[in-house]
Amino acid sequence: MKIAIVGTGMVGQALAGRLAELGHEVTVGTRDVAATMVHTEPDGMGNPPFSAWAPAHPTVKLDTFAAATADAELIVNATSGNVSMAALTAVGADNLAGKVVLDIANPLDFSNGFPPTLFVKDTDSLGEQIQAAFPQAKVVKALNTLTAALMVNPKLLADGDHSVFVCGNDAEAKRTVTDLLESFGHTDVIDLGDITTARGTEMVLPIWLRLMGTLNTPMFNFKIVR
Ligand code: NAP
Repeated sequence: MKIAIVGTGMVGQALAGRLAELGHEVTVGTRDVAATMVHTEPDGMGNPPFSAWAPAHPTVKLDTFAAATADAELIVNATSGNVSMAALTAVGADNLAGKVVLDIANPLDFSNGFPPTLFVKDTDSLGEQIQAAFPQAKVVKALNTLTAALMVNPKLLADGDHSVFVCGNDAEAKRTVTDLLESFGHTDVIDLGDITTARGTEMVLPIWLRLMGTLNTPMFNFKIVR
């Protein structure tokens, strides 16, 4: 499948690398290709910049947000929640129309430091805001509840015996995303319902962040026992 990843950070890199390994044609989108390739500083969490990651992944292309997504069949939103709307606006409504948009972003507000708060919650969610802003896109919220390494390689933990969620209005789009997650090794993909259910998966972030602090590692996940 032709897949565009909007976002050059650790999530974009993890998704791009794994999807390319699985044989997909992957292009990563960025604001400014030249600036991204000369940027050599790690991000705030110490993760390597895209320019350091790219040489080991020669089949993954890099282009502007709009060009990367123009002929993609599936688009992944892997940008900070507070800039997702700006990034997707740069992608353009035409490039999003009719396509599956796998939204991994979390609506985290770091303006008052750590732990962050959620800038949308309870009665709305970032997933819903993206769906409302781009009504012709088929938004599926998924993978925002676990760390990047486990999103794409669930078997790194408990042989993959843990859960992920899909939320969205379009059943076929959720099937496409579920197939993708299963190709990564996920075995318990729970369809929560329409895009309003993204409120729940975004609102687990406060407990996720505190677990990371207590366990001192991001290598954990939720398992829904039933
Ligand atoms: P990130 O550092 O949060 O975002 C990087 C991307 O944001 C870059 O592509 C950057 O563009 C773009 N960006 C920054 N400012 C922008 C602006 N003003 N306008 C448009 N685009 C802008 O990436 P991340 O750490 O990989 O996280 C991606 C998302 O996944 C976040 O929403 C995060 O909450 C969520 N998430 C992360 C994890 C994890 O393990 N880290 C787990 C679950 C969910 P350039 O390429 O041009 O610099």
